[in-house]
This record gives sequence, C-alpha cells and structure tokens, in this order.
Amino acid sequence: METFDSFALTLPIMALTVSAVFMVLWRFGLKAALFWGLGFGCSGLGFLTSLPLASDEVMAMAGDMLFVFGFLSYGQALLTHFGATYALRYRLLLIGLYFAVDVYLVFGLADLRSELLLNDLVAALLLGLPLTAVVQQAFTPADRLVVAAASLVVIETLGRVIAINYLVGDNDDLAAFGESVYAVVIQITGGCFGVLLAAAAFGSMVMRVMLNYRRAAEIDPLTGLYNRRGLDQALRPAQGREAWSGVIVVTDIDHFKQVNDRFGHAAGDRVIAAFALEIRTSIPAGAVAARLGGEEFVICIPNAGLAEAGVLAHGIRLRFAGRDWRQFGIDRQITASFGVAKMQAENDNLQAALDRADQCLYEAKGAGRNMVVVEGGVFETGEAMIADLQAALTALKSAGG
Ligand code: GH3
Ligand code: MG
Ligand code: MG
Repeated sequence: METFDSFALTLPIMALTVSAVFMVLWRFGLKAALFWGLGFGCSGLGFLTSLPLASDEVMAMAGDMLFVFGFLSYGQALLTHFGATYALRYRLLLIGLYFAVDVYLVFGLADLRSELLLNDLVAALLLGLPLTAVVQQAFTPADRLVVAAASLVVIETLGRVIAINYLVGDNDDLAAFGESVYAVVIQITGGCFGVLLAAAAFGSMVMRVMLNYRRAAEIDPLTGLYNRRGLDQALRPAQGREAWSGVIVVTDIDHFKQVNDRFGHAAGDRVIAAFALEIRTSIPAGAVAARLGGEEFVICIPNAGLAEAGVLAHGIRLRFAGRDWRQFGIDRQITASFGVAKMQAENDNLQAALDRADQCLYEAKGAGRNMVVVEGGVFETGEAMIADLQAALTALKSAGG
C-alpha cells in the first residue's frame, strides 16, 4: 500500500512542521506557542509510531504516551493563551495512572481495543477539562475559533471511542494496526482537525500579538489610561456612529515639579498613578479619560453639560486635595487645577475644544490653582460653592435615577 504509506508520512511531517513554526513564535516571547509547539510535536511523533514500520509493543506504548502528552500540551496552550489555570497536578496524575493501566493493556493483555479506547478517552479529558476553564473567556472571533477547533478535536476524539467498537475487529492485533481501517480513519480525521486547530491557534496568537501592540501604542503604562493616540481612537466616529460631542475637562497637578524635587521621581509617579485612579473611578460610564503627558489629564464626558462636568471636576479636585500622602512618604497636600469646555460635534473639533479647556486651566493656574474654571464662568472654591455643588449633585442624582 504505497499510497497509504506516503499519506501516513505526510501527517507527522505536517504536525512537526507546525510544531517548528510555533517554536519559532515561542522565541518571540509567546508562552502559549511553546505548548502548541510541544502539542503538535508530540502528535507528529505519535503519528510516526503508528506507521506500519514501527508496530511493536514499545512503539505502541510510546505512541500512546506521545498522544496524551500532546493533548496535555494543547490543554496547557489554551490555558496559557487565555491566562487561565486548571489543576496541572491532577492532569499529570491522570497521565501517571493511565501509563500504569496502558502497560498492563499493551504488554499484559495485548488488548488493542481497550488500549485505543482508553487512549482516546484520556486524551479527550486532557483537552476537554482545560477547555471548560477558558470557554467563557473567548471574546474575539479568533479566540472563539480556537475554542471551537479544540472542541471539535475533543468531540472527534470522543467519537472515536464509539467508532472503535465498530471499526476494530476482534482479530486485529498490534502488528496489523498500522494498516487497519481504523488507522486510516484517525489519520484522515486527525489530520483535518489538526490542521484546523493549528490554523486557529496560529490565528488567535497573531491576533493577540496585534492587540498587545495596539494596546501598547494606545495605553499609558503608568496609569492604564489612554494616551493621546488612544484618546483620538476612542473618540473617532466609527462607521454608523455620530461624531463625539460632550464636555472636555483638562486637569494638571499643581506645582508637581516641587513634588518630584522634594520627594523623588518615584514618589511623583505614584502620585500621578493615584490621580489617574481617582479620575478613572470618578467618571461616569461612557466617559473617556486619557493622560496627555506628564501630570496632565483629559476627561471627555459625552452628552453632558458644562455644569455637570464642573461638578464632576470639583468632586475630583476635593477628593484629591483631601488625600493623605504620608504612606508614599509625602507630608504635604497636593492639589490640581481644572479647565472645562464644551465640544459641539457639528461645528467643533477635539483639538479646538481641548485648546479652550486648556485656556480655562491656564486661568485656574493664574488665579491661584486648586480650582475649576468652566468656559464662560468660574466655579469658586468657598463654602457657598460647596452648598451649590451639593444641591447640583442632588439634582443630578434625582434626574439620573
Ligand atoms: P504647575 O502648577 O504650573 O502645573 O506647576 P508644575 O510644577 O506642575 O509644572 P509643570 O506642569 O510644567 O511640571 C511638570 C513636571 O512633571 C515636570 C516633569 O519633570 C514632571 N514629569 C513629567 N512626566 C513625569 C512622569 O512621568 N513622572 C514624574 N514623576 N514626573 C513627571
Ligand atoms: Mg503641573
Ligand atoms: Mg503639566
């Protein structure tokens, strides 16, 4: 059966080539690629052991173990890719138990049918169990595809358990296995689903790398907020979406150079990160915050009025000014100033609105800092203002809820 032999050789060659590709990806720092590489490597070597030239008991055992280690690696690759965990110790224990039973089946009973049944069952468990831990975390189409492909591999492997009962006759022995109908069936189905899994795994990894690069280009690492580029992207009207309109709040920490000079750059960084967190936890759903550079931030609140945004800015200002920084080794008050301007989608652009908010911020700095200046009017920082604010907040709450 010359054609069958050459077909049988293509599978291990394909699997080993895929393995090599993933190993190269692993060198680029992609940890899941190591496990995909090991998985396809084990499968490729496993397919080699089922060739007619290598059908004795030791080879059968080696093949069985390579297949289960291959499936263990696929499961580990999925977990690594999705950042999930699933009791590795118990999966290794399962392999240990399986090994003991397999030795008995191959060398003791020479029972091919039970050997194959158990092999498929253990393999399906080793991929199926981790799959249950990641299935809820597949959000992108590429991630969904890899979960679907892995599910198909599990279903196909379990399907084989049933098929074995029909396809493997009682007289089959290990020597004839390589040429049995069953061996051809696994090679065809295993090949098809293996190619699907490899393509899906590769696609999901490439997608993840691209998303990571995009994230790195759009997110400020110190604060986790958007940078300017991320902000432009977030506010850019998508297809079918209206141009952004709302209120822009620009804020800058007061006398920050003094904080750096007196308490060190690291303490300064912690203040910047804390201010960013204050902003992030204060803004309403749908609002976007970004770090424009240094200790200057912008908040874009869609469909809001100047008064509401002013109230929000005051809330952030008061909480920030009231913070105790002694845990960071800073024994003084730190304040910030705010400028607020409105942006109308139809006759305005982000840069123009940012410039007007910046102008208000500049006025706040000039007027003594620790202040909110709203386009067209100043919010004062006295007791009367706090009473006004509380009234405005109550009105906002009752309007909103
Ligand atoms: P003002 O009240 O007028 O804003 O005074 P300021 O001292 O805050 O003035 P300015 O905004 O010009 O100073 C910003 C300082 O922030 C200068 C720079 O050394 C420092 N800075 C910029 N980026 C970082 C950073 O990532 N970490 C730290 N720790 N400091 C930074
Ligand atoms: Mg400053
Ligand atoms: Mg500044």
